[in-house]
Amino acid sequence: MDKLWDCIVVGAGAAGLSAALVLGRARQRTLVVDAGGQSNSSADGIGGLLGQDGRPPAAFYAAGREELAAYPTVERRSGDVVGGERHEAGFVLELADGSHETARRVLLATGMEYRFPALPGIAERWGRSVFHCPFCHGWEVRDQQLGVLDRAAAGARRALLLRVWSDDVTLFADGPAELDAEDAERLRAAGVTVDERRVAELRGQGSARTAVAFADGGEHPCAGLLVPVTLHQRSALAEQLGAAASDPGPVAIDAIEVDPMFHTSVPGLSAAGDVSSQQLPSVANAVAAGSSAAAMIVQDLISEAQGLTAASRLARVAGGTQ
Ligand SMILES: Cc1cc2nc3c(=O)[nH]c(=O)nc-3n(C[C@H](O)[C@H](O)[C@H](O)COP(=O)(O)OP(=O)(O)OC[C@H]3O[C@@H](n4cnc5c(N)ncnc54)[C@H](O)[C@@H]3O)c2cc1C
Repeated sequence: MDKLWDCIVVGAGAAGLSAALVLGRARQRTLVVDAGGQSNSSADGIGGLLGQDGRPPAAFYAAGREELAAYPTVERRSGDVVGGERHEAGFVLELADGSHETARRVLLATGMEYRFPALPGIAERWGRSVFHCPFCHGWEVRDQQLGVLDRAAAGARRALLLRVWSDDVTLFADGPAELDAEDAERLRAAGVTVDERRVAELRGQGSARTAVAFADGGEHPCAGLLVPVTLHQRSALAEQLGAAASDPGPVAIDAIEVDPMFHTSVPGLSAAGDVSSQQLPSVANAVAAGSSAAAMIVQDLISEAQGLTAASRLARVAGGTQ
């Protein structure tokens, strides 16, 4: 612990790498610590990212790390940040190897844990023939037999959305579908089949093909299955640092509350990407959030060094200096 970093970025997914790039280009002494578990790692390709559409996630993150190597003030380390606390000069973070690092600012870009239904066969197909986001993976399975594992109003909405990619969509309700009359009629009019048989597992050869197998022994081929997810903090780090969580939403259960400048409730602590309440989960949004959060951090550091007040800092931001 012999160095005071301007910023420690925790997590090197899309948000963290993007932030580190901006910090490095602004010559800030930046440490990036990453445990190497980006949420989309199991996917074959990144869908919907301009300039990188369909690129394998591992190749995308490798290219991001390579770009950082050009900036001498940025250092990357592999490993977990396992704890931390705020002190008068900023923050002290503890790494899994027992070392401690001190920084004036910390950016949490730690992503979220995506939890999907506990059904045998989902985990090995996750991000391929089983997905939570049709905008990310719908194109790859277009015009094939598709399904939604869900029920009630949420299931009806997802099934109607999935019709964008195929006219053969089944809502697998895994029991009573719990649809009101309007939703039942909407699905009927859209040609969506509702199957209320109990689902036992997903089957198929490899991860790219799926069939929904029922408890009664039947089976329904399904090239792509849309499943609901909830997003959760991966560790207690944000809580330990004192960051307030936002109210639970339908998807993100305990995202970190941030203001439009990505500041958390703790002075000097920012959050960007899936982990923050500002985020609609996607790689493009994470890249944008990381970039903006980093620019704000640089502004804060410079303003602090110049003795500017929070109000005059805001005036500068509003004045277009980002
Ligand atoms: C299966 C799947 C497929 C997806 N496909 C697409 C797609 O095709 N297109 C699209 O736009 N979006 C897709 N998404 C969503 C997209 O992946 C996320 O919105 C985006 O990756 C979020 O980026 P992030 O940087 O916030 O988090 P992440 O990419 O999850 O990165 C966070 C990083 O922080 C690290 N970390 C966490 N805690 C610590 C700690 N304490 N110490 C050190 N490191 C830590 C993690 O190990 C990880 O490497 C997909 C998501 C999933 C789950």
